[in-house]
Amino acid sequence: MLNIQQAVKRLEEGNLHFVNDNLKNKVQLKEKRKMLMNGQEPWAIVLCCADSRVVPELIFNTGMGELFVVRVAGNIANTSSIASIEYAVAHIHSPVVVVLGHENCGAVTAALADGEHGRNLNHLLSHIEPAKEASSAQNVNDVAKLNAVLTVKELSVKSDIILNAIKNNELEIIPAYYHLETGKVDFYIET
Ligand SMILES: [Zn+2]
Repeated sequence: MLNIQQAVKRLEEGNLHFVNDNLKNKVQLKEKRKMLMNGQEPWAIVLCCADSRVVPELIFNTGMGELFVVRVAGNIANTSSIASIEYAVAHIHSPVVVVLGHENCGAVTAALADGEHGRNLNHLLSHIEPAKEASSAQNVNDVAKLNAVLTVKELSVKSDIILNAIKNNELEIIPAYYHLETGKVDFYIET
């Protein structure tokens, strides 16, 4: 398993390949599928929006078995997404979680619009409320960035498994932001 620094470096390098239309060596042959039959060792966890334009395996130039991807609209920390991350932290020991917000996020746009979306979507959007309330600009992309930053904090507050892994220097959670047009990921975003 990679360490934290190695995993971050690989994510950064993979994204550079993607940005430059230069994806490498990720054709998924049957040999690779066979290799993965007996287990997985994904070296990064990505909490990512369900948006079809945001595809972590491409964005980070990875193949099967490399990323443990948890997708939910608005990349929110709810019970199910946290539990999925806990599994990868506790049982696979993946060293990095990337919380990947993105430009023009539909979930964030809906949260800002304050409409009635029905019970399920209302519940999902309630997880974006803290970012919406904390944002002075009320602009979709600023709120998406803030949502990623706040979600990073929420993960360690709501999960002892995640918090303990961070305390033991076995895990780092990184807020990040994806630009739709350039394909670039900004890591360690601040708001
Ligand atoms: Zn989105």
